[in-house]
Amino acid sequence: MANHNVKIKISDGSEFALDRLAYAWIDAKECVNCGVCREYCPVEAISEQQREVCRICPGCATKPGLTFDEMSTVSAEHACTIGCPLGISPQGYINLIKAGMYEEAYKLIWEKTPFPAVLGYVCHHPCEAECKRGLLIDEPIKIRALKKYLSTVLPLPKQNEYPVVNEETVAIIGAGPAGLSAAHDLAQLGYEVTVFDAANEAGGMLIRGIPMFRLPREIVRHEVDALERGGINFEFGKFIGPKQMENLLEEYDAVLVATGTPKAKLLKIEGWGLEGIYSAVDFMERFNTDSELWRHPGQEFVENGEIVIIGCGSVGIDAARAAVRYGAKNVTVVCMECGDQIPAHDWEVEEALKEGVVIMDGWKPIRFIGEQPKLSGVEIIQAEDLTKDENGNITCKTIPGTERIIKADMVIEAIGQKADEVWDAYGNSDKVFFAGDIQSNDVSVVNAMAAGKYAALQIDGMLQGGQLKDPMGLRTIHKAPIEEKIYPATRLKNKFHPTPSLDIEDRINSSEEVELVLNDTEALAEVNRCLECGYQHVDSDKCIGCGICQKVCPKGGVIKMIRVEKEAEQK
Ligand code: SF4
Ligand code: SF4
Repeated sequence: MANHNVKIKISDGSEFALDRLAYAWIDAKECVNCGVCREYCPVEAISEQQREVCRICPGCATKPGLTFDEMSTVSAEHACTIGCPLGISPQGYINLIKAGMYEEAYKLIWEKTPFPAVLGYVCHHPCEAECKRGLLIDEPIKIRALKKYLSTVLPLPKQNEYPVVNEETVAIIGAGPAGLSAAHDLAQLGYEVTVFDAANEAGGMLIRGIPMFRLPREIVRHEVDALERGGINFEFGKFIGPKQMENLLEEYDAVLVATGTPKAKLLKIEGWGLEGIYSAVDFMERFNTDSELWRHPGQEFVENGEIVIIGCGSVGIDAARAAVRYGAKNVTVVCMECGDQIPAHDWEVEEALKEGVVIMDGWKPIRFIGEQPKLSGVEIIQAEDLTKDENGNITCKTIPGTERIIKADMVIEAIGQKADEVWDAYGNSDKVFFAGDIQSNDVSVVNAMAAGKYAALQIDGMLQGGQLKDPMGLRTIHKAPIEEKIYPATRLKNKFHPTPSLDIEDRINSSEEVELVLNDTEALAEVNRCLECGYQHVDSDKCIGCGICQKVCPKGGVIKMIRVEKEAEQK
C-alpha cells in the first residue's frame, strides 16, 4: 500500500515531505517505452526496465544458446534505447508506427533531432548493434529503414514556430548537421538563433559531402525548410573570419562554431604535384554539385579511366562509388588497414564491392608516377604492424620487395580532413563553443548531431547558470522482473527480410538512391518483429502524483493515476 507522504529532494539537497493524493502506474503491456514520461517526471520517479530474452535452448533461435548468467547479462546490458547517440527511443517509434500513430512517432524523433528523414537515409544505426533481437535471436530490427519509411508515409509534418522566451541570442557558424541540431535544440529551449554559412544553402556535408545515391537532396531541403519555417534565422553566403567573429561576439550572447573539417589532409609523397591528384572533399563536392572545382583548370574526369582512391573510410568508399557512377573503367581503393581495421562500415564496403570497386587492403602508397604534367600510376608497398593514434594518424612497417605499380589516370585522396586553425584562438573563450567534426575525428552524421545537441545544452547551462544534464546519462536501464521474460519461440514466426535495393545495373548508370524504402507490408512485417524489450516503471514511493507523465504520454491509455486512499478499487 502506497503512503500519503513522499519525501522530495530539492536542488540544494534538502528534503521535505509532500502530502500526495495519487501516484502514477504504467501498464507495462501497453507502454511502448518511448521514454517521454521519464524525461518529464520532475522527481525522477520513472525508470526503464528491460525484459530478459530467454536464450537457454540452443535450437530455439539462430543465435547460439547461452548460460543463464550470460543470457541475463546480455539482456540487462543491451537495448536499442541506449544505442542512439541522440537519446531517441527506437522501440518507442517502432511501436507507435505499429499502432498506426505516425505523427506521434515522427514527433518523438523530431523533438530530439530536426532530421528524422535524413537519419532514416544515412544514420550508421548504432541502435541496431544494440538490438536484442539481433544479439540474441536472429537479425536486428531494421530501425533505420523504419525511420525512412516513416518519413515517406507522413504528409508534410506540422511545424510549429519555436517559442522565443529568452532574451539571450545565439549565433551558430556552420549550417551542417552539428550546427543545425544545436539550432533546433536552442530554439526549442526558447532562444533566438541565427545560423551563418559561407555556402548558399544549409546542409553542409549532407549536401556537399554525402552522395545523392545515399541521400537525395530534397530530403535535406525539406527538413531544413522546417527549421526556417519554425523561426530560425539563416544568413547564407556569409564567411565568418576573425574580424566578423569579433562582431558576432559583441552582438550575440553565445557563439557556436560548427564549421566541420573543410580542409582535406593531403598525402604529399613523391610526385604529388602531378595533374590528376585530387582530394575526396573536392571530388565529392564536384560530384554533388556538378560544378568546376578542380585545382588544375582544364582537367576533367577521365571517362573510362583508371581511378585510384587512397583511404578506405566512409568518405573513400563514397568517392569510389561516385567514380563508378561517373563512368570509370576500374576503381581501386588502396588502404593500409586490413580486414576488420578498415574504417568504413561493413555494409558500405559490401555495396562498393557489389558495384565493382576493388579494395586493396594492407598497401601503402609510396610514390605518384607519371610524365610531367600528367599522372599515370601509383607505386604501392605492402604494409604490416599497423597502429593508429587517437587522431587517426597511421604508422606501419613496410615489407621490402613487395613494391608494385598500379595504373591511375586519377587519384582521389581520402585520408581525412581537418578544421581551419583560425578557430584555435577562441578555445578559451567563455562565450565560444564548438561542436561536430571540428572537435573530433568522427565524421558520422548522427555523432555530429549529438555533438550539436550537447553544445546546445552547454550554451543553455552557461546562459541560464543551470547545471548541465547529459541526456544520455539519463538513459540507464534496469532488469525487469522475471515474469516479464520474453521467449523467442513465440516470436520466430516474424521472419527477417533484407531491405530492398536498386539493381546493380540501374545504380551505376544513375545517381538514384540505392537503398529503397520499405513498402507498407514490409514495414508492418518489420515492426511486428520487435520484441518490445523495455517498458517504463514508476517508483510509487517517489511519485508525487503530479500527473505530468499521463499528460505527455503520446500513446494514451497507458498511465493511470491511482488515488492513494482507494488504490485497491481503482486498480
Ligand atoms: S527487439 Fe525491438 S525493443 Fe528490442 S532492442 Fe530490438 S528494436 Fe529495441
Ligand atoms: S508510459 Fe507512455 S510516455 Fe511513458 S514510455 Fe510508455 S508510452 Fe512512453
